[in-house]
Amino acid sequence: SKYPDKKLAILTCMDTRLLELLPAALGIKNGDAKIIKNAGGVIVHPYGSVVRSLLVGILEVGVEEVRVIGHTDCGVEKLVERGIDQQHIDIVRHSGIDLERWLGGFESVESSVHETVRRLKEHPLMPKNVRISGFIMDSATGELTRVEE
Ligand code: ZN
Repeated sequence: SKYPDKKLAILTCMDTRLLELLPAALGIKNGDAKIIKNAGGVIVHPYGSVVRSLLVGILEVGVEEVRVIGHTDCGVEKLVERGIDQQHIDIVRHSGIDLERWLGGFESVESSVHETVRRLKEHPLMPKNVRISGFIMDSATGELTRVEE
């Protein structure tokens, strides 16, 4: 049905390595959870599509828990280093875009997950009884580590 069986929503990275690792590590199957993916599993904008999808999941289909799951060796951090012309980067910066933030580039996956959890918890439209937590998944083994607040 459209209602997730575990009342759980997951925000995670689109990395294909997680496709089988993630459900296995969490012990979930099709229909158990709403899974929202983008590059890095980050919130680019507080009123963008990720937050909107999570809020719709909470308000419309009964999601009670949100887990933000980053992963080791996440490619998003490397995008800027991949030979993009510095001039182009400067143009984007000068047009008022925080490039690192937009790409989800944080110093570490841990700080990225931490920041995403914080943004969700502090979001003005987030109901206070929704449980929000962050994890990092080992991209090779699927092992999950909780990110402390
Ligand atoms: Zn990733």
